[in-house]
Amino acid sequence: MHPSSDSLLIDRFGRQINYVRLSVTDRCDLRCVYCMSEDMTFVPREQLLTLEEISRIGRLFVEMGVDKIRITGGEPLTRKNILQVFESLGQLTGLKDLTITTNGTLLSSYAQALKDAGVTRVNISLDTLDTERFKAITRVGKLAKTLQGIDAALEAGFQSVKLNAVVLKNRNHDEVHKLVEFARQRGMDISFIEEMPLGIVGDHDRAEAFYSSEQIRNDLLKYYQLTASNESTGGPARYYRMPDSNSRVGFISPHSHNFCDTCNRVRVTAEGRLLLCLGQEHSIDLRRSLRAHPLDDAAVRQDLLNAMQIKPQGHNFNLALQPVIMRHMNTTGG
Ligand code: SAM
Ligand code: SF4
Repeated sequence: MHPSSDSLLIDRFGRQINYVRLSVTDRCDLRCVYCMSEDMTFVPREQLLTLEEISRIGRLFVEMGVDKIRITGGEPLTRKNILQVFESLGQLTGLKDLTITTNGTLLSSYAQALKDAGVTRVNISLDTLDTERFKAITRVGKLAKTLQGIDAALEAGFQSVKLNAVVLKNRNHDEVHKLVEFARQRGMDISFIEEMPLGIVGDHDRAEAFYSSEQIRNDLLKYYQLTASNESTGGPARYYRMPDSNSRVGFISPHSHNFCDTCNRVRVTAEGRLLLCLGQEHSIDLRRSLRAHPLDDAAVRQDLLNAMQIKPQGHNFNLALQPVIMRHMNTTGG
């Protein structure tokens, strides 16, 4: 089905939504210090969207002009039978890009099946190449498992395998060039992310740990020649190219570079809350809509159209006022 112009998701500011991030669980096998507190309470399983509901949401969005879906979490690969969702979304005509963000720990078992299901691109989070630091940042993780996952993803032959690193001062800021080198050796892109004030994490003061994209770029300039590029992968990263490599270095800078003007995305939490902005609480209860209209897609599509009217103009991240948003990134679906 081709979307008609009156079913396109266009907000009050004329921005068309063509990118949806679906969180399939808020649970995770890691406890990264910037994402979670040590003691997390997770959503009771019975409150989660079912796998069929997640697939239905994906289909409805694609019918309304969305051509990119990212599956995220929590750790999406910890959700039981999650392949079923990828297999169903992978068959949607009109969906050009089916992607996943993962910590990589389970990719050695899942990479090939994801590729076969139609996943086009994989983003893997990797903040450090040092075993001890990896344990400290993730609280419980083993670097070797994520590295094996990266190898498995590269072997599976996706269109791209990209790395994401959240950079914190005095935790991993001195490693950014090593991470770029790791990416270059494997022909991967890498993006550096400024920490966002989502939820209370209890581990560090976010203002103190802030390390800006500009600082990272200056550090990298000692090693590499970086040239700004106007390429985009549909997300908020700004990319730089290096003359001697095909790898790109991206920066996701919610503090120093506000990307709201060109925002083309919305998120759905694992409980089915449609979040209209990462940094604001505006949302609708999509789970209620789905369950009220199990056989009436038109009614759910109307709720999605109505939701466009409350998409805010932008986020208000301010490290001095943290945390403004009480939900953690694992709930939000990063
Ligand atoms: N578990 C998967 C992973 O780590 O890739 C997917 C979910 S995770 C919430 C998605 C991305 O959000 C990861 O790249 C993670 O590093 C990033 N992230 C988590 N908390 C963040 C925060 N407070 N600020 C910025 N990025 C954050
Ligand atoms: Fe888990 Fe990803 Fe959050 Fe780390 S960033 S705790 S891997 S959801």
